[in-house]
Amino acid sequence: MNLVLLGPPGAGKGTQAKSIATEYNIPHISTGDIFRKNIAEETPLGKKAKEYIDQGLLVPDQLTIDIVKDRLSEDDCKKGFLLDGFPRTVFQAEALDKMLQEDGKKIDVALLIEVPREDILKRMTGRRVCVSCGASYHVSFNPTKVEGICDVCGKEVIQRKDDKEDTVKERLNVYDKQTQPLISYYKECDKLSEVDGTQAIDKVFEDIKSLLGETN
Ligand code: ADP
Ligand code: AMP
Repeated sequence: MNLVLLGPPGAGKGTQAKSIATEYNIPHISTGDIFRKNIAEETPLGKKAKEYIDQGLLVPDQLTIDIVKDRLSEDDCKKGFLLDGFPRTVFQAEALDKMLQEDGKKIDVALLIEVPREDILKRMTGRRVCVSCGASYHVSFNPTKVEGICDVCGKEVIQRKDDKEDTVKERLNVYDKQTQPLISYYKECDKLSEVDGTQAIDKVFEDIKSLLGETN
């Protein structure tokens, strides 16, 4: 199964992606995680991406597309994949369709996690992420068992620099202008499925499993 997760920043894509990837045994590919890893390792890609990410802006399309193309060519993607945070522009969506088509593949479902704007700011400013495995927590809604320590891998849990309130607002503007049009893009080709992301984390996952069950 080849899946794309859609939704505003803070909708719960990363949170659900971990469960979906385990349940369906497909790799979770987060362009945000790839950029953050490169930033931590101070690679040339990381240095370039950081200029945009710290301002809440999108990394240029071609740079992002090349990374995804490389990642999708790895062996573990043969059985399917889950894209989280990509595509984020119509240009990226078209490039994705084209690269898959060249390989005789396609996107099966674009899953939109819907959360109203008033919940998003609370979620993002309270988000904490693991520096090592990228697991996502929330200080109130989904806290770690031991404060500051990742439940999954035991490493440190921190606040992302781009989760400060001002940058969050800019990211939401960018979402409205550049990413929201993807909803129509996938609706038009009849690939869009929607889940109510305001529910508890486990309930959202139950709904996702029912939806994906129906499409399998
Ligand atoms: P995204 O990957 O879409 O940006 P995340 O999965 O990182 O979003 O979730 C954003 C924040 O909201 C995190 O702090 C996460 O713990 C929290 N969160 C995710 N899903 C829910 C939910 N269903 N209810 C409450 N909080 C949630
Ligand atoms: P995320 O972890 O998905 O919230 O992404 C964090 C940041 O990485 C975004 O705010 C962008 O700056 C950058 N980014 C992630 N994915 C993409 C993408 N597909 N296109 C452009 N920039 C991206």
